[in-house]
Amino acid sequence: MSFTLFLGIAFCGMVSCAVLSYILISYNSRHLFDASKTRIADFVSGFSYDIERTGFPYGTDESVSEELYLLAENYHGRVLVLDNTLRVVFDSFRTKNDKTVVAPELLDAAANKTHFSYDEDNKTATYACLISSKTSKDPVYFYLRYDVTNELNRYHTSRRFITMISLCLCIIIFTVAIALSVAFTRPLRRINNELTVIGNGKFDERVQVRSNRQVADITDSVNRILERTHEMEENRQNFVSDVSHELKTPMTSMKILSDALLMSGEELPDTVREFLTDINSEIDRENNIISDLLALARMDRKTDTIHYERAHINDTLDIILNRVAPLAESKSIEVVCESYRDIYADVDEPKIITAITNIVENAIKYNRPNGSVYVTLNANMTYFFVTVRDTGFGIAESEIGHIFDRFYRVDKDRSRETGGTGLGLAITKEIINAHGGMIKVYSKINEGTTFSVRLPLAKPVKSGGKA
Ligand code: ADP
Repeated sequence: MSFTLFLGIAFCGMVSCAVLSYILISYNSRHLFDASKTRIADFVSGFSYDIERTGFPYGTDESVSEELYLLAENYHGRVLVLDNTLRVVFDSFRTKNDKTVVAPELLDAAANKTHFSYDEDNKTATYACLISSKTSKDPVYFYLRYDVTNELNRYHTSRRFITMISLCLCIIIFTVAIALSVAFTRPLRRINNELTVIGNGKFDERVQVRSNRQVADITDSVNRILERTHEMEENRQNFVSDVSHELKTPMTSMKILSDALLMSGEELPDTVREFLTDINSEIDRENNIISDLLALARMDRKTDTIHYERAHINDTLDIILNRVAPLAESKSIEVVCESYRDIYADVDEPKIITAITNIVENAIKYNRPNGSVYVTLNANMTYFFVTVRDTGFGIAESEIGHIFDRFYRVDKDRSRETGGTGLGLAITKEIINAHGGMIKVYSKINEGTTFSVRLPLAKPVKSGGKA
């Protein structure tokens, strides 16, 4: 938007500048010879009176010739007077007397009475006209070719000046366009930045930008929507938390009862035992979902504190790999771990174990039989990095953006088969975000998936230790 505004102002400004300078330059060029033309026309009207008075060129009065010589001298040019047969009767250069001159300007003068033209290359102008007098029956032609170097120089100087002024105006318009577009869009950019922060989960914060009335109105409307969204989000979190708590107790009782029945040692009919086993595993699954939901609800309501402690991350990874070893073995998946150095970091170790276990378990669960999982650990001065690469089914590009959403499962049947709840990656992301870290996914369908996690080595200053 800033660029469009800039383009709009700059375009309008520069077009106006170009039009204005064109008008000025063409006005200048049109009126360039007005003054000299008027003076010559005045001379010609005096000259026609002299013809009547003295009978020039046939009279004996020398004063008319003197005036013509003076005119030629003043204009740095040449004056010719020709009779109606185009024979030269006066030449200020004294070379063409008695000769006949057929110049196009004279023919033009014969038709239009007055001719004016100029030659830019030779820097000369030509004025020619036909003068009739009451005393003489034949008209005479007046012809003046004179030097216009000064006029043309003045014209070129003024044209350069106008061009320079236009260029300066263009630069000013450019600068003003940039300044205006930045000033107009700055509040919108600030609103956008603040909304991005709020959108990252800080729903209790409000937009503060109020640079002018219109912006303040937008801010108020956005804040009202945020208020409403915040209320709805709180209601949702309370609801999920309350329902999970309510379900937890009966589920625990059902689990105890079904375990008791299965372990009672009593002889049970085969179908009853089979159904009981199914019921038991469904109860386990529901319990997993409820535990995950409660964990997420605690993180949402920020009641779950991150307890930072120095941990040897290589050992943390060993714990995770030992934990997933039985699952990997059951699926004939090879898990290879490579760590490049000893890494110590301030983390909430149990939570980090939960987060990375989810990723490694997924890499095993969504792998092919006899596939592989490669786990690497590395660090720089500020962060440590864990990558988990598998040789599994991969995730379609259109699905990648959703896999951290709650209850999102790409392939519902496969996920159900593997006992997935669709909450594992949501929990992982919450834990990593709470540590000030970042998680990214790269995947190619039928080739495999890589999750890469970046976590700070030291406790983030701004987090305040809250999850
Ligand atoms: P689930 O409990 O279903 O595994 P997750 O939140 O852990 O839920 O994962 C969400 C979905 O992302 C999974 O259902 C699965 O479809 C997909 N997924 C996660 N990890 C992988 C992986 N390594 N390879 C292929 N798909 C994966």
